[in-house]
Amino acid sequence: EGRETRLRVVLRVRPLTCTETRRGDQQVVHSLGDGAVHVSAARHDATFGFSAVFDAGASQEAVFEGSGMRQLVELAIDGFSCTVFAFGQTGSGKTYTLMGPLAQSDTQPASPALLGLMQRSFTCLLEQSRSRGSDLALSASYLEIYNEQIRDLLSPGPPGALPLRWSKSRGFYVENQLRVEFESLEAIVSLLLQGSRRRRTSAHALNRHSSRSHALLTIHVRGRAVSAHPAAGKGWGLRAQRGGAKSPMAGACPSKQGTLCFVDLAGSERVKETGSSGELSVEANSINRSLLALGHCISLLAKPRGKRTHIPYRDSKLTRLLARSLGGSGITLMVACISPSSRCLSETLSTLHYASRARRVTTRP
Ligand code: ADP
Ligand code: MG
Repeated sequence: EGRETRLRVVLRVRPLTCTETRRGDQQVVHSLGDGAVHVSAARHDATFGFSAVFDAGASQEAVFEGSGMRQLVELAIDGFSCTVFAFGQTGSGKTYTLMGPLAQSDTQPASPALLGLMQRSFTCLLEQSRSRGSDLALSASYLEIYNEQIRDLLSPGPPGALPLRWSKSRGFYVENQLRVEFESLEAIVSLLLQGSRRRRTSAHALNRHSSRSHALLTIHVRGRAVSAHPAAGKGWGLRAQRGGAKSPMAGACPSKQGTLCFVDLAGSERVKETGSSGELSVEANSINRSLLALGHCISLLAKPRGKRTHIPYRDSKLTRLLARSLGGSGITLMVACISPSSRCLSETLSTLHYASRARRVTTRP
């Protein structure tokens, strides 16, 4: 607590899709083991290092266990603000990693082996909450940022834009955002599905909308101060905070309030502005704006603390909402997603550079 800790950045390389295989795309990304990945193509030859690399053969479970996601859940229970964000071009596997193929089809439930980081985290959260014997109050909020407007994905009414405010005690927060309490896995999974459906049905073309909006699902964990799990904090070099019975404040302990936020970012590919008009160009501009702002903040944050200049969080709604996760008191896991295909080479290299830079960013949880 209070010590500087780095963002944890892991890489997931999805398998070649059937279409890519059929048309004979070359595989240009190879995992070297030990967190290293090699990109080799005609004029490119580069190696990148991450906390972990998951290649095409990695199961959803392996990603959950190997990324540090389990520890992040434990840290959220201990009162930290935890964030995991998936980043990469459209079709690189962000939604698959977070939610599994379930997000693609509403009618057929996905096989348990394919469930993504979100459902696995919910299970872990509910299990931990039961096994610690602490009564945690769990609630969820779900919003998207589309064309620089914040929309509540859980609110049943017509989607209106919600205001984003700042206060000294809370930092940036969304006003009037709906928070729904839940106690079971079924309940939270159903909220996730409802929200994701809302995100999709409002689109003219299904995939286009989801690759143009950022979705943030936040689980709020509120509990009485109980002693922390000894394993919490492993992997970030943090020692779990102890409170509860041993604390001199026992009995009068303020309740711990942690959060666990899952961010499915819009596709990072450069939106071609030529030829797009009207609505499309508004979309293009706002995505470019928020992802550019995010990239800009990450570059500045990656500099040593002493050499940092002002961080322009206010440049976009996305960076305002992620300010704490990136430069404040949050604990953050970034899952960079890439395709191994030769056709995606330039986007892949750009994701790898972006992700490498993010590894130098530190926060003070
Ligand atoms: P994104 O959200 O980044 O646009 P998706 O998660 O929708 O990308 O993935 C694009 C396609 O690739 C989907 O059909 C998805 O099922 C498939 N896919 C992605 N990652 C994997 C993986 N690790 N294993 C198998 N299929 C995957
Ligand atoms: Mg997606």
